[in-house]
Amino acid sequence: MTGPTPARSLPPGHRLAMPKEQRHMFQHRALRNVSDDVPIHVSMDRTLRVKVIDACGMTCTFCHNEGTPVSADNHPRWPERFTPTGPSGRTSLYAATNGARFTSAPVIPDEAFRGALTQLRDALDFDEVHLTGGEPTLHPKLPQIVALARQAGYSASVTSNGENGVRSLSGCVDAGLRHVNFSIFGTTPDELAQVQSTRFRVRALAARKIEALEDSIRVAVSLGIGVRANVVIPDHTHVQRVHRLLEKYSPRLSVRILTSLADGDASLDAVDLLLAELGAVPQEVRLIAGTSGFRITYQLPSGRQLVVKHIRSLRLPDTCTGCRFNNSVDCHEGYYGVRLYRDPDGTFHVGVCIQRMDLCLPVEEFVDSDACTEIRKMREQDLHDLTA
Ligand code: SF4
Repeated sequence: MTGPTPARSLPPGHRLAMPKEQRHMFQHRALRNVSDDVPIHVSMDRTLRVKVIDACGMTCTFCHNEGTPVSADNHPRWPERFTPTGPSGRTSLYAATNGARFTSAPVIPDEAFRGALTQLRDALDFDEVHLTGGEPTLHPKLPQIVALARQAGYSASVTSNGENGVRSLSGCVDAGLRHVNFSIFGTTPDELAQVQSTRFRVRALAARKIEALEDSIRVAVSLGIGVRANVVIPDHTHVQRVHRLLEKYSPRLSVRILTSLADGDASLDAVDLLLAELGAVPQEVRLIAGTSGFRITYQLPSGRQLVVKHIRSLRLPDTCTGCRFNNSVDCHEGYYGVRLYRDPDGTFHVGVCIQRMDLCLPVEEFVDSDACTEIRKMREQDLHDLTA
């Protein structure tokens, strides 16, 4: 990394206000309708995403599967023949081009996992694990994984499609789970069926999945943890979905709108339309130094809050400079944070980009690598740039 490194960090749980004169540093179309009076707060990225299992009971056509090829369709020892799609009907969006060299195996809550978490916590000051998949609630030992992460000094949250929450969530909450993010791919059977692979585009199946999701949301709310519904809005035809969600569920369910990078302005136009229809008023912008994701919180006339999540253009100064995808069309996520995977031999790998899985390193190598230093410095530089 070039340039001076500011000796500035931010303790866990702290955030800084972006000074008014600094706001020009941060340009994004989403801020067009956000007045200067709305505060912009900046915190530091301290989240590690952990892929705990590859299995999933859905076949969404847009799934990035956290960068690894679908395990059920790929022999773990033949990386040269990895395929992004296969008989399971599932997809791993970037697997054809991201150079992945391993499939992901279920994480086992053992000493090796504890060691990986501890090393990454110490190397990058992480204090939150975000458990992903596949579908993490299909992992029979998810509560033990949550408990081990808590012992290693992390808070724990999970992203789920809701198909197995009724069976899994209570044990996870007992083990210390704090938040669950439900991904809502459809609010009606037809909507959900539309985004499943052709062979599984079956209305009755989609209806059962939606029923399971609704039950999971009810269980999560009753368990008293933070419950969020993440909805992607590719264009204006998806706006009604959000209205239905807000009508259907109690205000205890926090709704988060995700824009679709692949759909560009159509997605941003749809979000503008939704916010206008809802009479939403911006309350706060939340930037996280060291990751491309940022959020705007809106208040609705009912008093309920709605969060819209956007992506800003953030790159790793050295790694991304030489990357073949480093342009505004091919690089979809920007630098989003660090991911942890376990391969079928039990080795833990650290990834810095789902479009460049060839950059993955075993944990022991990663913590001593230039990539780890680069991430730490970039995070601090980003915090400095946004708040100095
Ligand atoms: S984040 Fe960096 S490494 Fe990943 S695709 Fe974009 S430019 Fe390449």
